[in-house]
Amino acid sequence: MARSGPEALGGVSGAVQGASAPGPRPKKARPKRLGLFGGTFNPIHYGHLRSGEEVAEGLGLDALWFIPAAVPPHKAPADLTPFPVRLAMAKLAVGRHPRLKVSDIEGRRPGKSYSVETLRQVRRDFGPAAELFFILGLDAILEIQTWKDFRELFTLCHFVVLDRPGFDREQVGEVLHREVHPGFQEMPGGQGFQHPSGTRVYCWETTLLDISATRIRTLVREGRSVRFLLPEGVRRFILKQRLYIPRSATGG
Ligand code: ATP
Repeated sequence: MARSGPEALGGVSGAVQGASAPGPRPKKARPKRLGLFGGTFNPIHYGHLRSGEEVAEGLGLDALWFIPAAVPPHKAPADLTPFPVRLAMAKLAVGRHPRLKVSDIEGRRPGKSYSVETLRQVRRDFGPAAELFFILGLDAILEIQTWKDFRELFTLCHFVVLDRPGFDREQVGEVLHREVHPGFQEMPGGQGFQHPSGTRVYCWETTLLDISATRIRTLVREGRSVRFLLPEGVRRFILKQRLYIPRSATGG
């Protein structure tokens, strides 16, 4: 029997409510247009959340999943808050939002959390008809050539690139042509680029919020306010759990 999407993903916060019906889940219950927003989320903040909201609305997504990386391949482990804690903050942030969800899929695989493995798994679980949109910031796409099996990624899903202050959107086409495939075609109206396989890379204009998790961690460490940079529940959680404070300062 085919596994249903959310179950196969090992739990998407709030995705399935109430008692399960007997027998296979009806096909229409599956999201058909699904956004996958990967990241370290250490912690999740309004830069992620507002972009997710605007993309989900703009693309008419059935669901958008924030997918915290259990073992981010590009981040120093020393700086890393444990996966369950980052997952908990993401869940606190989305709450009962009807479309924004949190998936622990990358916590269920051993080793480094490569996006290509997540995309393969989601593609397998949801089948070839599902429209998958992988969401990432401009800073991330500009170094896509450092990702595992990055060329394959562009055959598995569409991409949505979010503007980020300080990064040049004009470089996206150049990087795609040079690093990924010379056959990328520019779409009309500066919408983005189309890969020869038919997948698209959308350059998406969202509200520019110059917020980073690094800055939030620094502010907390310095004992300064992070209010209004991230949801209040997450801010309180950080303070209560004494996250981002050096051990020597906590007496631990
Ligand atoms: P850090 O400062 O620790 O590197 P970050 O704030 O960049 O973290 P990540 O968890 O690394 O957050 O980001 C996940 C994804 O979200 C990345 O693709 C990143 O480019 C994107 N992103 C992060 N912050 C923003 C923002 N303010 N606006 C748009 N996209 C963002």
